Amino acid sequence: MVRALITGGAGFIGSHLSEALLKAGHRVTVIDDLSTGRFENIEPLTSNPNFSFAIETIMNETVMDRLTSECDIIYHLAAAVGVLEIISKPIHTIETNVHGTDVVLQTARRYRRKVMIASTSEIYGKSTHSPFNEEDDSIMGATTKNRWSYAVSKALDEFLALAYHKESDLPVVIFRLFNTVGPRQRGHYGMVIPRFVQWALANEPLQVYGDGGQSRCFCNVSDVVKAMTNLADCEPALGEVFNIGSQEEISILELAHRVKARTGSSSEIRMIPYSDAYEAGFEDMQRRVPDIAKINRVINWKPEKSLDQTLDEVIAYFRARSG
Ligand code: UDP
Repeated sequence: MVRALITGGAGFIGSHLSEALLKAGHRVTVIDDLSTGRFENIEPLTSNPNFSFAIETIMNETVMDRLTSECDIIYHLAAAVGVLEIISKPIHTIETNVHGTDVVLQTARRYRRKVMIASTSEIYGKSTHSPFNEEDDSIMGATTKNRWSYAVSKALDEFLALAYHKESDLPVVIFRLFNTVGPRQRGHYGMVIPRFVQWALANEPLQVYGDGGQSRCFCNVSDVVKAMTNLADCEPALGEVFNIGSQEEISILELAHRVKARTGSSSEIRMIPYSDAYEAGFEDMQRRVPDIAKINRVINWKPEKSLDQTLDEVIAYFRARSG
């Protein structure tokens, strides 16, 4: 039995990870300040004697010290999420990502705990290279465009984690999450699939930003959780960086049509200029496809669920909630 501490464990991905670890017979403690996470996500777990939680920020060093001393491994998922959130709360984004990760790593070093660091495909920035390889350059936008503060703060997290590994021999693994979707993800912070599905079910217009030609690859959260837990069990993964994502690419316009078809919706598809959707001068990433050769080689992982399966899960989730 492993004792896992999950920062951000009441969030969309963290709650799925908590559930999977409990199912595998491990102990799970969640720390989450519920800034974007929801208690509702972990409520069904609270009756499990192997589960505990603290509603607290990871920047509370006293609490982090105690929780870290009582665990074997930390999955560090607490971070600012979603493009809308990042643009509207830049101070919170930068402080949570930079100071929060600093606290996690310092505390982990005190007790020599393994840390699994969640990073992001935003790290690749404006690079037009495809697919993105872990060794590719990051190409960032100007500091006056605050979208990039998220990527730069997560890049700093990666540098710091790798530095702890190098200088203090701290066991760390970094994984860069590409677009991850599934039940429990909400559209409030900008995520496109829950937004499209909810609009489609309500027969409201699906808002496609820009010309809809930008593309993404959406990976089911259950596949992402398997990748994270398998990396945690893998000795050669220490001190390494891995992409986790799907390679099934779809343009956002095509996604809108796909969601409409699978929900049987009569929604109109409406094109919205980026400047109306976000803010003037907003820069989107045109394509974002991961190279997953490295994770496939090291833990033999590749996604199992198709986009259509994932869309059907998300549709069923929102139908159940509204019904
Ligand atoms: N998007 C959209 N309509 C929405 C929300 C997002 O067209 O209501 C677009 C967004 O501009 C981006 C893509 O969908 O090109 C994916 O957006 P999301 O916020 O889900 O993820 P990310 O931008 O981080 O890839």
